Amino acid sequence: AVRVQSGAPLAGFARSAIKRGLTGLAWAVSVPGAVGGAIIGNAGAHGGSIADSLHSVEVWQEGQIQTLPAAELDFAYRRSRFKEQVARPGLGPVVLAATFHLQRDEDGSEPARAAAYIAHRRRTQPVEKSAGSIFKNPPGDFAGRLIEAAGLKGACYGGASVSNRHANFIINADRATAADVVHLINHIRRTIYQRYALLLEPEIQFLGDWSAGPTLWFPTPSP
Ligand SMILES: Cc1cc2nc3c(=O)[nH]c(=O)nc-3n(C[C@H](O)[C@H](O)[C@H](O)COP(=O)(O)OP(=O)(O)OC[C@H]3O[C@@H](n4cnc5c(N)ncnc54)[C@H](O)[C@@H]3O)c2cc1C
Repeated sequence: AVRVQSGAPLAGFARSAIKRGLTGLAWAVSVPGAVGGAIIGNAGAHGGSIADSLHSVEVWQEGQIQTLPAAELDFAYRRSRFKEQVARPGLGPVVLAATFHLQRDEDGSEPARAAAYIAHRRRTQPVEKSAGSIFKNPPGDFAGRLIEAAGLKGACYGGASVSNRHANFIINADRATAADVVHLINHIRRTIYQRYALLLEPEIQFLGDWSAGPTLWFPTPSP
């Protein structure tokens, strides 16, 4: 078992685990962010995710520090039981540290696997500034494939633009505001809904005060 503080960069943690001959975190070598944020959103890539090897978390909650087994965090695709709680105003749970169960890399294949994942990301994802994948993949399909098939690669609103390299990324092409990004998200949601009768669900979270809009587009129920 390996214990790590929540503020440690996830990719750095994964890389140092690999250097120490451990396996289980190769998928994380190029995922931005810290261990705490990765636990909240059950970060994952290349078929792996936090839920696969997390053993337990130390959490500050309502004035107390508790150790919770991973099984109690209700992990699902890019979500945990904490995800909605931490997005609400006020003092939500704070992940302080985590313990992972990592195995010995018996056949020494983990470094090559990690290198292949890094190369794949460089090949397939934009280098410009972005917030990562905008939408969750719908069951059995890929958000990027649908957005590309709908002809939305390169679509823009203000300074935000759908990446030409990977259609599930919105890049900051020219001083984009958060509102530009939401307008573009709405354009994509509307187009995909009209074309495929499928409502793409954002993977990103909307933080801060959005009372002045824009709000996330939803189809109007038919009478
Ligand atoms: C280019 C790019 C590529 C990406 N690729 C991937 C990918 O392959 N897979 C993937 O899953 N994600 C990916 N992401 C998204 C992002 O890297 C992950 O969601 C990451 O886990 C977020 O970590 P963070 O530290 O930035 O968290 P933040 O975005 O800062 O926080 C996320 C949420 O968790 C809360 N939080 C953070 N730390 C704690 C804590 N210690 N205790 C309690 N609450 C906390 C925050 O309040 C917030 O609500 C990508 C993003 C970018 C920009």
